[in-house]
Amino acid sequence: MSTAEPILLTPGPLTTSARTRQAMMVDWGSWDDRFNQLTASLCEQLLAIINGGASHHCVPLQGSGTFAVEAAIGTLVPRDGKVLVLINGAYGKRLAKICEVLGRSFSTFETAEDEPTTAADVDRLLHADPAITHIALIHCETSTGILNPLPEIAHVIAQHGKRLIIDAMSSFGALPIDAQQVPFDALIAASGKCLEGVPGMGFVFARKEALASAAGNSHSLAMDLFDQHSYMAKTGQWRFTPPTHVVAALHEALLQYNEEGGLPARHQRYANNCQVLLEDMAALGLRSFLPAAIQAPIIVTFHAPKDPRYQFKEFYERVKAKGFILYPGKLTQVETFRVGCIGHVNQAEMHAAVAAVAEVLREMEVLEI
Ligand SMILES: *Cc1c(COP(=O)(O)O)cnc(C)c1O
Repeated sequence: MSTAEPILLTPGPLTTSARTRQAMMVDWGSWDDRFNQLTASLCEQLLAIINGGASHHCVPLQGSGTFAVEAAIGTLVPRDGKVLVLINGAYGKRLAKICEVLGRSFSTFETAEDEPTTAADVDRLLHADPAITHIALIHCETSTGILNPLPEIAHVIAQHGKRLIIDAMSSFGALPIDAQQVPFDALIAASGKCLEGVPGMGFVFARKEALASAAGNSHSLAMDLFDQHSYMAKTGQWRFTPPTHVVAALHEALLQYNEEGGLPARHQRYANNCQVLLEDMAALGLRSFLPAAIQAPIIVTFHAPKDPRYQFKEFYERVKAKGFILYPGKLTQVETFRVGCIGHVNQAEMHAAVAAVAEVLREMEVLEI
């Protein structure tokens, strides 16, 4: 295995196919009809994944995923709105930070990093504070890999007549979400995660009525999704310079997504990756942080070996030299590392990655295996 091109077992950027990378070898004019068609086709295919064509608009936005999250909050939460932010990890905390920076009134509800928010929690919180207009939820909290019960929470919120904003960045495309079953005002994802495109653009599925009434909410010109959508609807073009190569790569990645069998096939491949990873690591004596019932097949957090000879930095560098990029842990209380199940990889790569981990731990004399 060449060390020049390691396999990324990270939650984005992640390993992409040669075909997806090849699609970036063309320079597109942003005014060109063919590029506008590419964007339109992209939005249509993205909407189809959530069965949202009738109810939602797809608004693409330049930048990383966080740009799209910030744009969604800034555009869809009115300046006199109040957001309840549900937190069980770093990305939930980031949502609260966005509300703070944008000057939106908000409150937070935080559970432990291995404890999903429940619909009963949300029901209680909404009864207690009628000022809340919007609820912001992370679907799969990538800082651990925990899955929050989106459908149950969404229904409670709808019963209260409140609005839901979902950061589904690391689950969209792999875990099923049906916009006709799960009510939401906004669902946010990006090019470089489970769709296996390259990073560089996010997109927001915004409920049509919610977007139509969002004019003037945004604090920002460039991050205004109402404006971005209006301009695109009128002209077929992106409002400012589009990430042309990223769009082309994502379009090509979506062709492969559909050839593979769409969401069910993508979900199954990641679930298989996750299972191989958990089993092979368990055989080395490495335990996962989350119980299986709340573990999404996206990224797995492992407890670091309890051996003074283990240092993440050295472990990381040695595993990298064998061709695999792992990810540091993101927990404050316990020493962990993370391994992604997503990207253009399958069970063979997962077996090989854990074999590399085993060799490295043996070299570091951390494990007797
Ligand atoms: C990746 C990710 C984001 C966006 O992160 P960026 O670094 O801005 O791309 C947001 N939320 C979740 C849950 C994520 O996994």
